[in-house]
Amino acid sequence: MKNSFILLLIFLSFIGCKQAGPNISVPTNYDGTYRAATMSIGGFSRGKTAKRAKNVIFLIGDGMGISQVSAAAIKNNNILFIKQFPVIGIHNPQPLEGLITDSAAGATAFATGVKTFNGAIGVASDSSVVETILEQCEKAGMATGLVATSTIVHATPASFIAHRPSRKQYEEIASDFMKTEIDYFVGGGKRYFDRRSKDDRNLIEELQKKGYIVDNYFETDFIDLEINAKSNFAYFTADDDPIPFSKGRDYLLAASKAGINFLNQHDDPSDSKGFFMMIEGSQIDWGGHANDADYVISELLEFDKVVGEALRFAKEDGETLVLVTADHETGGMAINSGSTVDSLKISFSSGYHTADLIPVYAYGPGSELFGGFYENTAIYNKLRSALGFDVKK
Ligand code: MG
Ligand code: ZN
Repeated sequence: MKNSFILLLIFLSFIGCKQAGPNISVPTNYDGTYRAATMSIGGFSRGKTAKRAKNVIFLIGDGMGISQVSAAAIKNNNILFIKQFPVIGIHNPQPLEGLITDSAAGATAFATGVKTFNGAIGVASDSSVVETILEQCEKAGMATGLVATSTIVHATPASFIAHRPSRKQYEEIASDFMKTEIDYFVGGGKRYFDRRSKDDRNLIEELQKKGYIVDNYFETDFIDLEINAKSNFAYFTADDDPIPFSKGRDYLLAASKAGINFLNQHDDPSDSKGFFMMIEGSQIDWGGHANDADYVISELLEFDKVVGEALRFAKEDGETLVLVTADHETGGMAINSGSTVDSLKISFSSGYHTADLIPVYAYGPGSELFGGFYENTAIYNKLRSALGFDVKK
């Protein structure tokens, strides 16, 4: 009797799994036991009527663990746009080997659905090229964009557009931008495009020949730009790394807002396939490496304003998925006993990244896919599902 009851339960849960449809996001490059454990929980069914996302705004706060968010919230009277998300999930940032990821393997997991080695930019463990979600969106006729507060060839943005075995191949990563039709990008690193040491190419001239409008902060302040949404657009915010927000860098919100409007208007409205945009708050991580809580918090509060702008657009638009997460936590940051609202006692346990699990915050069509607990690579598959792309692998 007991046995047949258990069999009935197994049978019913099997049917339950089947009904959950194809949207069970199984971590791809993972071992069998983990896969089985994920499967047994069952998937989330969007049903046939679930609305797909036309646009995706993917915001990555590099190094933004939950302590970083906690500290920024306390410092900001407990008000953060990040706190407004209706769907929260957790991802495991572990790379292919070891427990601690770097930003290259972390962003490659999001962009390609593949667990790879630290330092890898858009390549698998055997260094083979893996197509990114941004490239797939380009192929699907969508407009695409990248904005970062690091150089644009730094690990996080690079992993969405370039394919190199080492994150330090900045000039090679810059040349990979030429192989794409990315519509809008803003970040530092001008020198990797126009004063290269390994070849004589001037990639800014090459971009212009391809029809891009290219500008930089030496010539024009971002806020003084008049951007024509019909021509592809690139803007360099620094020769190398942009300065911290606290030292006067102020383009992230303006470049994100302009980028969202640009990508939304880039294609003929009657034939618009939507857009994919990745925006990175790059220096939250750098504050963590420096064990500098004020640096972390000021960068995070700037990033949160961009989150607010993305939410405002998505709410009005109704077809936009907004996703916020981090590649990993940086610094082992903790808010300690003796802290008050006015005086936080923050300590760090590391000058590098930690293995902490990382929250994922989602809003808009497809956001329901992002609840629960999953590998960082599942974010790629969930994005594809949200966009209505076939989920392969
Ligand atoms: Mg980064
Ligand atoms: Zn880092």
